Amino acid sequence: MSIEAVPLVKVDKNTCITAGVCWSIAPDIFEYDPASGKTRIRDPYRKVDTGSESIGQIPEVLRDVAKSAAEVCPTSSITVE
Ligand code: SF4
Repeated sequence: MSIEAVPLVKVDKNTCITAGVCWSIAPDIFEYDPASGKTRIRDPYRKVDTGSESIGQIPEVLRDVAKSAAEVCPTSSITVE
């Protein structure tokens, strides 16, 4: 059995200031969540979405762009593992 490592992306809604930089850099991964007024992971990648965090699993091909978004997020609210 092989276990495939899938990049895990998290948005901390407690620190997100809705600057929107992540949407412009990685619109396939991040979007505005009108319910919370913060950023969330897009479908179909979103796995968990609460008032305080949004967590998703993305394809390996999107890892670099997710990391780029994490690097420019002004509040370091995005992590990619
Ligand atoms: S770049 Fe960071 S602070 Fe701005 S919307 Fe995205 S997660 Fe929130």
